[in-house]
Amino acid sequence: MALIQLRGVRRTYSSAGRPDVEALRGIDLDIEQGEFVAIVGPSGGGKTTLMNILGLLDDATEGTYVLDGDETRAADGHRAASVRAHKIGFVFQAFHLLEARPAFDSVELNLLYRGVSRAEREARVLSGLESVGLGDRAWQSTSTLSGGQRQRIAIARAIAADAKLILADEPTGNLDSVSASRVLDELERLNSDGATVIVVTHSSEVAARARRVIHIADGTLMSDVGQTDAVASRPVRESEHEPRKRRIRLPDMLRDAWASVLSRKYPSIGQGLAVAIAVALTITTLGLSASARAQVSATFDAHLNREVSATWSTGVQNSLAPEDVSDRVEALSGVDAAAVVVDLDVSTVSTFAEARQVRPHVAIGDIEGAARLSIDDAPWHHGPLRSGEAYIGDLLASDLQLSSLAGAPTILVDGVAYVVAGVITESSRLPLLRGEVVVGPRDDLTSRGPIDVTMLAVTSSGAAQQVARQLPATLNPFQPEKVSLAAPTDATQLRGQIEQGVQTTLTAFTLLALIVAVAALMNATLLAVNARRGEIGMRKALGARDRQIGALITLESACIGIGGGVVGLVLGMAAILVVTVSQRWAPVFDVVLLPVAIAVGLIVGAGGGGLASIRAARLRPAENLRS
Ligand code: ADP
Ligand code: MG
Repeated sequence: MALIQLRGVRRTYSSAGRPDVEALRGIDLDIEQGEFVAIVGPSGGGKTTLMNILGLLDDATEGTYVLDGDETRAADGHRAASVRAHKIGFVFQAFHLLEARPAFDSVELNLLYRGVSRAEREARVLSGLESVGLGDRAWQSTSTLSGGQRQRIAIARAIAADAKLILADEPTGNLDSVSASRVLDELERLNSDGATVIVVTHSSEVAARARRVIHIADGTLMSDVGQTDAVASRPVRESEHEPRKRRIRLPDMLRDAWASVLSRKYPSIGQGLAVAIAVALTITTLGLSASARAQVSATFDAHLNREVSATWSTGVQNSLAPEDVSDRVEALSGVDAAAVVVDLDVSTVSTFAEARQVRPHVAIGDIEGAARLSIDDAPWHHGPLRSGEAYIGDLLASDLQLSSLAGAPTILVDGVAYVVAGVITESSRLPLLRGEVVVGPRDDLTSRGPIDVTMLAVTSSGAAQQVARQLPATLNPFQPEKVSLAAPTDATQLRGQIEQGVQTTLTAFTLLALIVAVAALMNATLLAVNARRGEIGMRKALGARDRQIGALITLESACIGIGGGVVGLVLGMAAILVVTVSQRWAPVFDVVLLPVAIAVGLIVGAGGGGLASIRAARLRPAENLRS
């Protein structure tokens, strides 16, 4: 039985909005094993269409094609890939080698997809290259080879694959006559070794070398000259008939993907940078949120969580005199500053220029520390507020036209004169003080009857709750319940909420960054796949399955993702350092950031490559090998 048997083969290209093209209009053709056939004819006659059908890259619209007794169709992806891998060698006008990779890799590809072991691959690739006279070029980059050398590498690939059927579509179309002649020699030698060779050509020299010449024009077989019976006497080669179940191995796949990433240096760097930026943003936001949370905690400890206050009335039995209290409280462990404040009735406060009705306060103890005041002290004033001295709020001071403290100005509070010892410019705990006045200790506080007294204390970090528990008994050992405590809010909850707020904002920011990166990478990989259509078609022609092509693109993206992840980690760390140092925060680095960076890189890489993998897997080789 003939190796190739075509019966009534038609191929009609139909695409929406355009008239159908009948590229083949009923071809009947037998080609015996071992023949050397030239197919000639005008451009557009249907030669490539015929070759695609013979190579199981495309199916006839009508009619049957039996190859080696087997009626596999191209549409049956898996089986067709396997038949191509085991029986067919392709030589294309556009060479279709793996660019910027060693010649070895291009020759090896078919064997790789067949799952041939590394040692055997190496032996077959080197002997294939040897037999086309390129044994010394195995490790040279294909991009540095001449056209003739490139085409001989494609032939070496068919030799290494031990293909039974060689399909060469205008193999010498891009070559000068000397190189063309050399390529033809190789094809003839393959043929005399037993392979069936079918060459599409425009060249009369090529046609002259073939024993049989088939003329195709307008989708029809015009003539078929030289079909001989002599072929029967040629040595019949037995190639691996039964496609083995073996498939490309994972380590080989990884090596291929990695070599592919390296061979496209600049696109890979570009894609890696997209990943790196996303990872850097993730690391930065994660790292900063840890640093910012630490900062929020510190801020809380520094302020709200350190303030304790208590109030009581001097009318209560056994209560201490206001003058004695602040020293006792200050003596408690954990108390940094304490002061007693007594609010007086609203009264007139005046300088010689102006007068205002305000509420004065009497302070005993360290009011500056306890009320967290910022004070512009008079040049002569140091230490606590003494009897006969006053601090005046900056707002009130400007109302009273009190501009300078240099001359030790005095103010009258309800008719009593006080020397101004300082101007209050900030008062976080008692905000109204900036419009009021605080005077030093007075003897007459309790002379007019019971008064309300407030105790303000600032504790050291974390001591507030403990101080608050001790305070009532310190202020009134006999009736501690008469002391009402404004214990600090247990700030843990509030702190948690604020931390959560920070976290949420940063997380949203990170997610946005990731989405942008995935989109950018998706775009880049889609463009890259588009640019590699020829290579992908060639890989499929050599036996790669759709899934394996998808896996290749995914693995490449994953490699780029991991690389980008590492770079992003370094960038992110640097960004955290810059921000925390400039904010005077303590940077918080977590070892968990390393695996996070790698994982994010992988996810962004694989996610960004996903669409491109699907597209690559679905590319039809017949359309993408045309050049
Ligand atoms: P040849 O290789 O002899 O130059 P082809 O087989 O490439 O001829 O093309 C045969 C005819 O089919 C031409 O008219 C060509 O324009 C048309 N053709 C080839 N491929 C397609 C396609 N994918 N879609 C539509 N028309 C096509
Ligand atoms: Mg063609």
